[in-house]
Order: sequence, then structure tokens, then C-alpha cells
Amino acid sequence: MGLSVQSVGMKLNNPVNLKLLHRDGFVVALAGNPNVGKSTVFNGLTGLKQHTGNWPGKTVTNAMGKTVFQDNTFTLVDIPGTYSILSNSVEEQVARNYICFGHSDVTIVVTDATCLERNLNLVMQIMEITGFVVVCVNLMDEAKKKKIRVDVKALEQRLGVPVVGTSARSNQGLDLLMDKVWKVASGQIKTNPAAVSYPKGIEQAVESLDVIVQKALGKGLQSRWVCLKLLEGDDSIIQDICEHTGVNLVHNDELMPVLERAKRELKLQGIDSETFRDLIVSSIMKKAEEMAHTCVLYENRNYNIIDRKVDKIVTSRIYGIPIMLALLGFIFWLTVTGANYPSELLASGFAWLEDKLSNLFIILNAPLWLHDMLIFGMYRTLAWVVSVMLPPMAIFFPLFTLLEDLGYLPRIAFNLDNFFQKACAHGKQALTMCMGFGCNAAGVVGCRIIDSPRERLIAIITNNFVPCNGRFPTLIAIATIFFSFTGVKLIGTILPTVVITLFILFGIMMTLFVSKLLSKTILKGVPSSFTLELPPYRSPQLGKILVRSVMDRTLFVLGRAVSVAIPAGLIIWGMANIDIAGVSVLNHCAGFLDPFARLIGMDGFILMAFILGLPANEIVLPIILMCYTQQGHMMKYESLEQLAGLLTSNGWTVLTAICVMLFSLMHFPCGTTLWTIRKETLSTKWTIVSFLIPTIIGIVICFAVTTIARLLGWK
Ligand code: GDP
Repeated sequence: MGLSVQSVGMKLNNPVNLKLLHRDGFVVALAGNPNVGKSTVFNGLTGLKQHTGNWPGKTVTNAMGKTVFQDNTFTLVDIPGTYSILSNSVEEQVARNYICFGHSDVTIVVTDATCLERNLNLVMQIMEITGFVVVCVNLMDEAKKKKIRVDVKALEQRLGVPVVGTSARSNQGLDLLMDKVWKVASGQIKTNPAAVSYPKGIEQAVESLDVIVQKALGKGLQSRWVCLKLLEGDDSIIQDICEHTGVNLVHNDELMPVLERAKRELKLQGIDSETFRDLIVSSIMKKAEEMAHTCVLYENRNYNIIDRKVDKIVTSRIYGIPIMLALLGFIFWLTVTGANYPSELLASGFAWLEDKLSNLFIILNAPLWLHDMLIFGMYRTLAWVVSVMLPPMAIFFPLFTLLEDLGYLPRIAFNLDNFFQKACAHGKQALTMCMGFGCNAAGVVGCRIIDSPRERLIAIITNNFVPCNGRFPTLIAIATIFFSFTGVKLIGTILPTVVITLFILFGIMMTLFVSKLLSKTILKGVPSSFTLELPPYRSPQLGKILVRSVMDRTLFVLGRAVSVAIPAGLIIWGMANIDIAGVSVLNHCAGFLDPFARLIGMDGFILMAFILGLPANEIVLPIILMCYTQQGHMMKYESLEQLAGLLTSNGWTVLTAICVMLFSLMHFPCGTTLWTIRKETLSTKWTIVSFLIPTIIGIVICFAVTTIARLLGWK
């Protein structure tokens, strides 16, 4: 049970992998606090496209990329953003172990010029482990706007390592950064990292151990840092040190008696293990504060007054949640309203092309079955998927990315924090839930930001209760079809908007409910405390948002839908055209599932679509449509009204729509997410639990809704 370090990037510390990396040239680690622009720096240097977004905790995986500078190849390794490397949360362990044992030639520590003091804490901690450091003071443009002046030269002098000011978003300073990295890596710049001075008793204890530790370890690690860890008695890191260096410090006969004596003496001075840690932390903080004090000038002390004023409203107890709902509602409304016309436009484009393709088949004298299979089985599937799904996605994703880039997502987490605490879960779960809105697999990986294994598991298991990119289009399409084109027309697009917003709210409520249920049963415990950082609002870059949301989200989801739906289209075409005892295979399968499906407000085809949709949620709706239309020929998509007609002629009612939406919100996670859960928890048991919980809840709720509705005479 629980997460293991192996699952989160320790493979990079594998000696074989490291040798391979070094064979190519220099290896550079990229460290930093969360949300300081590390991914932006990484992307700027490597030309890759790591996901960026204005909120802490979104990068939890290692990425690697290469760049060439001065004819040398540099492999950049992006390690998880952490505030410190002193505690033992999974990401801090990964970051610390990579810095310690990754043998990188240089470590770039990316910092935020607008809050340098806090960032210098991490710089000091890293410099204790390695002297080959280059500090990148990023977000210089933001600092300038806020009238915060960073004296880069003075900082460089005080730190004893190169410091470069950058504005990574506009690629400023990155060349100079690479120049310094190259010079440190090639030995042209000798660094002289400033050391933190600890209280006298600790310094004396370190001195008594230093020579022996140096002798035992050789040149590998900074002996001063290892002495501190030995004195602190941090077993997990000592074990890691022994494992990675191959030196058994714990059974070193020369070291142990001196260590015991040093610890005894510290105790006599009232410094036990806990006090030791506190003293280390406070000394580092003092040093960082002192440096920031001399190197940063705040020309305007009220530089973040507007942020604070806005936050007072958007995170207020009274307005916070209504504003959140209104914003979400507005986004859904824009999506629903805007999607219809382009949908029809696309459909007519596909119809035009279909005629041309059919003509081509005639000219080529191709057999009829081939035409039917390719055009009715494949092409029309593609046309349906693209026409129905592309427009809502192309509107919804840029708007959602805009909120992400502005820095609004952590405010949502802040507003929901209280509810998560009440559900005995971790407040950061609200953030991982927000990640789930993008992709549940990403949300599951994101749960690494939660330290406690119990709370992490709860967050992993419940992540599926928020709809991902793949399920949003289904929800939006069904809500639009059923609540604006069927009998229940009400003030145009307002009703579908309200319905979608209510469904999302319901998903969040279920997340809280199931979290509480798990905390009180199989995952008992009390919530741990944490501080949630509200990043500054940043002006979003509209161009990049468009590119990112269209390329990374819209086209990715569409690509997945199309690539899975086309073969599925072929299979379903085959199933519809192969008969057993006069009935098509498709009807046999649906018939088998039908009685059960009816109990939960759906039909056999819908349930089959959910089952076949296991590889990717995107294809559930397309499969449903294929099943209905393949019974004859798959018809051309013309408009949402026609789609509404198709569904109602196949027996759909408002109750069916509600049940399909409910089941879409609450059923087993997709194949990728399940695979990710298995990888993250290293447990088949918890993967099965994650499969069963939402599925059982979905079935029970759909059954209850259907039964009650039928009892009330509703169909
Ligand atoms: P990470 O969490 O450290 O990887 O941070 P990201 O690279 O995702 O950046 C966080 C936010 O800061 C994003 O919205 C970026 O667009 C923005 N950002 C990054 N670098 C800069 C910069 O130099 N100037 C400005 N104004 N914004 C930046």
C-alpha cells in the first residue's frame, strides 16, 4: 500500500541510466520551489513543451530534455518543485535524492524574484549538498512591475555561486544562464558556496565528525551535510546515503563512537533530535532572510495590494463559492452557446467530402462492402466524433486554461479546503481534484503533493469523481441535446448550463462524501495540516493559452477519440453486419446487457459503450451513436437537433440523459488512469478498490434515480 519512491522518478538515480546520460555530455538538474517558472525555463532551454500553469504542485514528474551550447550537449533533468528538501514527502525525497545522488554536473535552482527570501531557503539547502549550483532569479519582469529590485551582483557575491536574472516567459536571460551553467560544468568558474552557520554546539559536533566522514565517503558527497544528517538521526536519508555511496556509515567502527559522543554532548546542551531540526531550519531561514534583506529592495511595500484585494473577494467565505460557481457556469454557458453553429458547419464540410469520397469509390470501381465499411464504418464515425466533440472542446479548453494561467485554480482549492478538512481529507486534495478536471491520470500522479499515504490514497481513489477532458464533451453534448432541443426547452442555453454546473457540483460533493466515508472506514485517520500557497495573479498570455489548449488538450483528446473510435467504428460495423441466428452480434451483446442496463435507466447499447469505452472515455458517446446508427447504416451527422431526434427515437428520455450523465460522472476510471493508479500505489488491491468504488456508487445512484423516477410515474 502507499506510494514508493521507485514510482516517482528514482529510475533517474539508477547508475546505468546515469552513465547513459553522462555519455552524452553534461547533466544539469533543474530545481526550485513550485510555480517559479521552472517548466518555463526548462521549455525555454530545451525547446520542449512541459505543461506550465500558475499554481503550485502541478509538476510532480521528472522530465528530461537536451540542449546544445558551445558545442556541448546538456541533458536537463526537471526535478519536482519543492519548498524544501528537509522533510520526507515523496516529492521532496525524489528531489533531494536526485540532487544528492544524481551526479549532475550542475544544479540550476530557479527562484522567483518577487519572493526571493522564501526561495533562498531552498538555495541554501541545495548548496549544502552540492557546490555546483547556478541560481536563476526568474520572473524579473514581474518583479520590475511590482517595483521589487533584485541586486543580482550582490546576491552572487553573497551566495558564492553564479546568479542570473531571467524572464523565462520571454526568453530573456536564458543564454546567459546557459553560459554560466557551461562555465561551472567545465570548471571555468569555481564556485565557493556560502555556508549556513549553525549554533556553536552543532558546529562543534560537525567538526568532530567531519574528518572521519570525509575519509569514509571520499569525494562523493559534501561531508558537512552528511554530518548534519547523521547528527539529526534522519534514518531514511542515512540509509539512502549508504545505499547510493556503497559506504556503510552505520557500521563504521571509527565513526559510531564519535557520533554517539557528539549526540550525547548535544543532548547535554538541551539539543535533542527535534530541537536539532528546528535549529537547522531556523538557521537556514535566518541566513536566507539576511541575504534577501541586503539584496532585494522593495520600492513599493504595497506591491501586492491589488492581489490581496481581489483575493479578499474571491476567497471570501460569503462570495468565494458563488463566484466560483458563476465562473464555471459562465464558461459552460459560453461553450454550450458557441458550439452549435461550428458543429453544423463542420458537419456540412464532412458531408461534402463524403460525397467526393463516394464518387472516388465509384470511379475506382471498388466493391460495395469496402465502400460501406470505410465510409459508413470509419469515415462517418470520424465525422460524428469531430463534429460533436471538437467545437465544445475548442471553446471550453482555452477558457479553462485561461483560469489556470491567471492563477484561479489554487483559489478554488482554497475555497474548498475547509470542506476537505471536514471530510477528514487533505486540503491539497482540492488541487489534485482540479488537476483531475484536466485528466484523471494526471490528477492521480499529482496526488504525490500530499505527504500522508492515507490522505494520498483517498485523493487517488476519489479523483475519478470529477470529469476529465474526455468526459466533459460527453456531458456538455448530452446536456445541450437534452435540455435545449427536446421538450424541456427553457430560456435557450441557460438550462443546459445549469445542468452541467449542477453535475460538476455533484461530482465534487461525491468526492467529499467518499473521502469522508473512506476516512471513517478502511482509511481511518485525522487530516494533517498544511499551508496552501496562493500564487500571485499573472497576466495570462493569450497566444500561448490558445496554442496550449488547442494543441495539448483539444487535439490530444480529439486524437485519442478518433484513434480509438475509428477501429471501434469498424468493429461495431462488423458486429452490426454479422448475424447469428438472424440477429446481429451487436444486438446479441446489447440484448444480454439490456435487462441490467434498464434497471439503471439506460439500455444495453449505452452500457456496452461504457464498457468498450474503458480505453478512453472520449469514445463513449460516439459508440452509443454508432450502435444506434449501425443498425441500419450510420447516418450523416447534420445538427444537434438531428442528434436529439436520433436519441429520442432510440428510446432516450430526460431520465436516460440524466442517468447517462450520472454514470459518465461515476463509473470506473479509464484504462490509462487505472494503470497510473497501479503504478502510483504499487498495489493491485487499491487499483481494484479505485475501480469498484465509483462503479458501485454510479450503479446505486442511477438505480435509485431510475426507481424513484418510475415510482413517480416519470419515464
Ligand atoms: P513551475 O511550477 O515552476 O514549473 O512554473 P511554470 O513554468 O508552470 O510557470 C508558472 C507561471 O509563471 C506560468 O503561468 C508561467 O507562464 C509564468 N511564468 C514563468 N516564467 C515567467 C516569467 O519570467 N515572467 C512572467 N511574467 N511569468 C512567468
